[in-house]
Amino acid sequence: YNKLWGMESVDLLQCRNILPPERVEPPKIKLHQEFLDSVNCSPDIFRCTLTKIPETNSLLQKSRLPLGVLIHPFKDLNHLPVIQCSTIVRCRACRTYINPFVYFNDAKRWKCNLCYRVNELPEEFQFDPVTKSYGDPSRRPEVKTSTIEFIAPSEYMLRPPQPAVYLFVLDVSRLAVESGYLSIVCDVIADELSRLPGDSRTQIGFLAVDSAIHFFGIPDNVSQPQEMIMLDINDVFLPCPDNLIVNLKEREELVRDLLAQLPTKFQGTHDTNSALGAALQAAYKLMSPTGGRVTVFQTCLPNIGPGILQAREDPNNRSSKDVAHLNPATDFYKRLALDCSGQQIAVDLFLLNCQYCDLATLSGMCKFSGGCIYHLPLFRSSIPQHADALGRMLRRYLARKIGFEAVMRIRCTRGLSIHTFHGNFFVRSTDLLTLPNVNPDAGFGMQISIDENLSDCQSVCFQAALLYTSSKGERRIRVHTLCLPVVSNLSDILHSADQQCIVGLLGKMAVDRSLQSSLSDARDALINVPIDVLSAYKLSQSAGSGALLAPGSLKLLPLYIIALLKCVAFRSGTNTRLDDRVYAMCQLDTLPLFQLIQMIYPDLYPVHALDDRNAKDIDGKLCPQPPRLHLSAEKLDSRGAFLMDTGNQIFILIGKNIHPSFCCNVLGVSAFPSIPEEFYDLPKIDTPESERLRNFVFSLQEEKPYAASVQIIRDDSHFRTLFIERLIEDRFENSLSYYEFLQHIKTQVK
Ligand SMILES: [Zn+2]
Repeated sequence: YNKLWGMESVDLLQCRNILPPERVEPPKIKLHQEFLDSVNCSPDIFRCTLTKIPETNSLLQKSRLPLGVLIHPFKDLNHLPVIQCSTIVRCRACRTYINPFVYFNDAKRWKCNLCYRVNELPEEFQFDPVTKSYGDPSRRPEVKTSTIEFIAPSEYMLRPPQPAVYLFVLDVSRLAVESGYLSIVCDVIADELSRLPGDSRTQIGFLAVDSAIHFFGIPDNVSQPQEMIMLDINDVFLPCPDNLIVNLKEREELVRDLLAQLPTKFQGTHDTNSALGAALQAAYKLMSPTGGRVTVFQTCLPNIGPGILQAREDPNNRSSKDVAHLNPATDFYKRLALDCSGQQIAVDLFLLNCQYCDLATLSGMCKFSGGCIYHLPLFRSSIPQHADALGRMLRRYLARKIGFEAVMRIRCTRGLSIHTFHGNFFVRSTDLLTLPNVNPDAGFGMQISIDENLSDCQSVCFQAALLYTSSKGERRIRVHTLCLPVVSNLSDILHSADQQCIVGLLGKMAVDRSLQSSLSDARDALINVPIDVLSAYKLSQSAGSGALLAPGSLKLLPLYIIALLKCVAFRSGTNTRLDDRVYAMCQLDTLPLFQLIQMIYPDLYPVHALDDRNAKDIDGKLCPQPPRLHLSAEKLDSRGAFLMDTGNQIFILIGKNIHPSFCCNVLGVSAFPSIPEEFYDLPKIDTPESERLRNFVFSLQEEKPYAASVQIIRDDSHFRTLFIERLIEDRFENSLSYYEFLQHIKTQVK
């Protein structure tokens, strides 16, 4: 009976195979009759940790679960209704956009579902654009779909929509030149110039940085870009008023010349300095009139001029229990970001470092300006897979869509309030986020509190409105609305919790805790979550002892928590470079949920015997769907091949006793010993086995913003560690296995 109603309990100590073989689906939201469940916002865009909202704060506290929403507001969408109208219908009191969850009193009035004010409908809203008839407002697209985009009229802009402006800041110090990144970056930019989002107004510029700042004037009627070197980095000014940021269409040939010259221009340099701080000040001056996007490529610690940083990391301390220097050493980069934010400038960082770069401090320039961060540690362009990874990452970055001078506001039904935000932005007022740029790969999180009793409401809503300037110079508003039922029963709340969303939010909360308190406090707080939640559940069930019961909806919670504890951001006892740890924290703060879960709990599949059962047709390719496996060496077999998808990397581990037919039909070698040590990308062999595996990998790549690198690992090679260290359910030297973790929880659950 309970199972039928989705209320089953699972004894975690008994049920060892708890991971469903297929993807974990978000719980379905069941609204009261008057609304269609199908009109609710897609869980890929908007998700709440609880799909049933407790009617009081004390009930929420009893559940011991965090309340919050995760949002991926600018996600690439296949179907997005875009409407142009002279009046955008919004509540006069709270400015909520009309949405599928409002109440129509009659054909002329609607009641706001966030503040309950009754509003008049404008005449034109009663017009049905499809049948061209008047009378029924519920036929309008605004009330038929939860995700919609408006083309904004002029009152939504403070100035004419800005053009797309791109500035590239390139590290040309000795370490930078030695890494060889410049030729890849310049080639890819040249290659993608025509795909940069924008129109005839698009502008572009370049700065190079070592001990000095190198400006490049690109005026009309010259045969060569003109380099101007500024040696005085303590008092940055612009060497000339014009032609440093130029119209891309008009000066494309000169821009291409510059991109062709840059990689060799600094060859053999002995300059070991990087005046990044001064370069960013110059970038700020250059971009201030328009706003836009600054892209910084950095390979070393800024060691001269303003914003100078010291090597703070103690390499002997990389596996200690508590980690020092997670917080910025100076607020220079944060202040710069806030200045940039005020002028609609976002700063993005590509960190391609071979030594400590103090990402904890540098990340400030991205965090507070709505920018993004990419990190490729130990980067060498001479290693083909490094070069490929940078190329794929940069192509996606350059060609993906972009919104300029954006703001996002999250509203919620009266009685609820947002108290903490997670992601890269500047909070301008209590619910308004400034986003100089918005990109389609950025995720955000918000923690919610219940301030007033909600027992009079059947449901509550969250609405996110993203106002931005498109790359074509159009002001647009993308609106997402999520509706959730209110309930009064604790067991109901626990049974409809969204475990992945909870883990996504907890990851962000643990990042905050690490910075504000310490890593060990963050770890302790994470360990306490399953203990508290399962204790609360035990109380609500009055079940007997002996078992460790979890509601079906939360059966993966302890597994995901131990995965978080062992991820690069929070692990202890393992040699972890400080910048790598800080980068993992940045990712937890900004990745959309799907990628965040994959990063902490990668997907593992057996791939030695793929077949066409349940195969999915994607773009005419028949893609096998093997079952997912627990991340434990117990699931491996020396006769098999296993694929692990970590998000940006795909590893395929080949067992020692793999059948020779797999070697020749899939890997193109005669037997296990002839599998090369360094083996990237699956060969294209004309066999059904090869095609199945390649199609399966293709289906995994289709879900990512850019393709992951693929590495085939022989079970006896030293690369094996890359795979084995991700089997987080097993015991490592200094950490518990999943089963030991459950036993620990059991002893603590009261
Ligand atoms: Zn309202």
